Amino acid sequence: MQIKFRKIIFNRISALLSSVFALILMINAANLLTVHKDTETSYSPDSAANSIYLSLDGYAAQKNNNYENDVKMNNQKEKYSNIDTTGTSFHNCKTVRVLDTQSGEVRSEDIEEYTLHALLAEMPQSYEMQALMAQAVACRTYACRNIFYPKHENADVCTDYRCCQSYSQIDDDKTDVSRALFAVEATKGIIASYDGEPILAAYHASSYKKTKSCEEVWGGKKEYLVSVYAPESKSDCSYTVNVSDEKMGEVFEKINKSDVIFMSGSDGICEGAVYGDAFYDCRKIKNLFSLRSDTFEVEKKDGGYAFTCYGYGHGVGMSQKGANLLAISGYDFCEILKYYYKNIKFDFIM
Ligand SMILES: [Zn+2]
Repeated sequence: MQIKFRKIIFNRISALLSSVFALILMINAANLLTVHKDTETSYSPDSAANSIYLSLDGYAAQKNNNYENDVKMNNQKEKYSNIDTTGTSFHNCKTVRVLDTQSGEVRSEDIEEYTLHALLAEMPQSYEMQALMAQAVACRTYACRNIFYPKHENADVCTDYRCCQSYSQIDDDKTDVSRALFAVEATKGIIASYDGEPILAAYHASSYKKTKSCEEVWGGKKEYLVSVYAPESKSDCSYTVNVSDEKMGEVFEKINKSDVIFMSGSDGICEGAVYGDAFYDCRKIKNLFSLRSDTFEVEKKDGGYAFTCYGYGHGVGMSQKGANLLAISGYDFCEILKYYYKNIKFDFIM
């Protein structure tokens, strides 16, 4: 009973703080409307602020969950009111045309609804709330950019992660979407922008030591997609891929495997392989063995080789595992996004 009572008191305090935050947001939004005359004036800061934090009580009551981050959320509300924005309104992004790659159907979805489906598919809900919120902004921004730079003929995004972003269907009875829904609502309408347009919000599962620049991986330069230090330790992002002697023989053209020499630096990380006259860099080795990272150690075992890989994915932009670690150490979602995407600002879909 005492716990319940405390929860009620906490919810009341949350509601009060929400009202204060709503007022701050209103003042902030009013300033934006004054300074930027081309901003769409139909935006209602009141309703936006209400929809952002109204859900706190609702979800706690509905699921009886303990949101370990609620206190952190409340402490950070003032920070959100100082969000670094240009005040540009991206009202073209309110709805997104989604191509379901399984059925071939194209449907129009509210951007927030789409963001929820993408977030559920792209990040585990067990991650810290601020990391989920950063990911929600990244998913929303990705879709909004596609509206300006379409990838598909009749759609803005598809549901295939290899092309656009993954998409999770919601089964009302079975899926608890409360944390993801909270993250989407708490960041409602917010996108990351650079030079007046939505950024290419690239992200990946994890990185080791450093993330990669856009130029390094895809060739084109983007000022905000540069390499940054990765907060992950080896154990945060390691996994082992075993390659049999047979497979090694196939890849290296059925010759004596002992002729393949893997070279390592002082930290044990492989720097490439020599095979006959040829040199294979780590990226090539990654592709030959379908590894998910070009940072790995190689160890000879009985019957094959063990590749201990560090990091997962293309390595450009936000590392999801890194975002979670930053959130644990107290970063809010804006700080997380600004860490991975340099010199960005935040704007609104209104
Ligand atoms: Zn696509």
